[in-house]
Amino acid sequence: MTAQHTKATGFRILVIDDNADIHMDFRKILTPVKQTPTDLEALFLGEAPRSDHPSVEIPHFELAAADQGLAGVEMLQAAMEAGARFDLAFVDMRMPPGLDGVDTIERLWELDSGLPVVICTAYSDYSGTEIFERLGVSDRLQILKKPFDPVEVQHLALSLATRRSLEDQASLRTEELERRVEQRTLDLHEAKDKAEAASRLKSEFLANMSHEIRTPLHGVMGMLELLKESGLAPQQQEYADVSLSSARSLLALINDILDYSKIEASQLQLDEHPFCLRRMAEELITISAAQKGDRSVDVVLDYCDTAPSLVVGDSLRIRQVLTNLVSNALKFTQSGEVVLDINAVACHDNISTFRFAVRDTGIGIPEDKLSVIFGKFAQADSSTTRQYGGTGLGLAISQQLIHMMGGRIHVCSEPGRGAEFSFHLQLPVCCDLRDESHADLLTSAPPQGLPSGDPTNPDDRPVVLLADDNEVNRVVAGETLKLLGCEVVMAVDGRQALELMSQQAFSIVLMDCQMPVMDGYEATQSIRQLAGPARSVPVIALTAHAMAGDRDKCLEAGMNDYLAKPFTLETLQKKLERWTGRSLTPETTGS
Ligand code: ADP
Repeated sequence: MTAQHTKATGFRILVIDDNADIHMDFRKILTPVKQTPTDLEALFLGEAPRSDHPSVEIPHFELAAADQGLAGVEMLQAAMEAGARFDLAFVDMRMPPGLDGVDTIERLWELDSGLPVVICTAYSDYSGTEIFERLGVSDRLQILKKPFDPVEVQHLALSLATRRSLEDQASLRTEELERRVEQRTLDLHEAKDKAEAASRLKSEFLANMSHEIRTPLHGVMGMLELLKESGLAPQQQEYADVSLSSARSLLALINDILDYSKIEASQLQLDEHPFCLRRMAEELITISAAQKGDRSVDVVLDYCDTAPSLVVGDSLRIRQVLTNLVSNALKFTQSGEVVLDINAVACHDNISTFRFAVRDTGIGIPEDKLSVIFGKFAQADSSTTRQYGGTGLGLAISQQLIHMMGGRIHVCSEPGRGAEFSFHLQLPVCCDLRDESHADLLTSAPPQGLPSGDPTNPDDRPVVLLADDNEVNRVVAGETLKLLGCEVVMAVDGRQALELMSQQAFSIVLMDCQMPVMDGYEATQSIRQLAGPARSVPVIALTAHAMAGDRDKCLEAGMNDYLAKPFTLETLQKKLERWTGRSLTPETTGS
């Protein structure tokens, strides 16, 4: 054993023995002087040094001695509390009164389980087997027979204490490594959290920004619609048409960005409710077919006869995905067909697994682009942007939405022959599987008991209360309403709307949701508390929040329906007709 293995401060040894002479013997044997092995022997036997052999320097040992087991245990405890452990203990076996050697060792190991112990014994109450039975067989336990051989004592002391010291160093190093790994893991988590927070902030910013852009865009689109109805010269009409279609494209793009950023910011929640899937698919195909223009493309719905119709799911999002796939199919197909195929492939515990597929006979997608096209702003061929338009966000959004609904989208294609996009969704089936008579009740609540004419208005023109704090919105909606032949009264907030309601009868209320002083939700709740017929006037929410959950919020507040801004003349007309029970025709305002 070389000096480099010893500690600079020396090894700390605890001797527990009821015989004070033994303490002395240990002190002599482990005294840090230069001695030869024979000198040590002589020293131990109380004789003078016997030889002049070259001496060796034995390492420094610090000794502490206790004459009783309990006292030894207390010394160890005090040392540990002071942060200075012992490297080794020599424990006598027989120590009356109190703890004997084995009891003492058990207590020492309770305090310091790694402490090496040498049992010193001349005769014992325990056999070796009993000792090992109680203390277990371990390399931290050695037995030393009295009388001692000083060299053996030195050797034992040095080897056991050195080993302990090396073990300590190793465990310190392991602890240090573990600490570093832990710190590195923490740093990585922190960096990941920061990156996610930054990405969320970016997405939130995008979501807010695109949301804010919708309001002025509403003004632009509304005014263009009014302009178109104002008796323009043919060229002016064309300018207005192009402006309006550009504004619509911009709105579609902003809606896509809004959706995508909401998904990325984890703000998009699914809104599941019962609806008629078959009817939704039929409507979608009817609307899509109208977009094919003069191309000879058959737009077909193939809804499997045995598949249930009434299901529970987020109809808005399923429709959004299917609309996107069908309109892509149509966009890239010059002739042939576009088929929306809906099939139920399995049913367990009233949950049907639907397979949705959109097939076309269009240009197809090269194999190396099949996975690329699902990335945001990704297109199979950049020339398609010029030729067919689009932003490259549609499939990215569809993929995320399908994922949120528990499915995965697949695509297969043969360039020049067409493409098929498909996905599976598990949708709970409503109790009465194929009874479509329920569908009406579930998809929309038709107004009941509406007056067919308005007794408050001799002209029988609907009198509309329009509550909106934004002036541009008031002008656009006000002018559109007038164009539809309505009489319009304006309020700038919910409180003013309520006051007007108590002074005058209205056929319908168009209520913005977010307004200062009193918002649309609170105003509607108060309207529903009014006395007389005013309490049951239809209230239509006008909101720039085009999220599915907003509809529920409006209905919960007592509103009857919901119109997302920006709305077109046509959608406003339909809502008014539905809720006033009258048919309205836009008047041309120009000369
Ligand atoms: P956009 O259609 O707005 O460009 P999408 O994310 O919906 O964005 O589609 C990304 C790209 O995938 C398209 O630009 C087109 O290259 C390709 N693609 C999607 N659907 C089809 C299809 N049915 N046939 C051929 N190519 C398609």
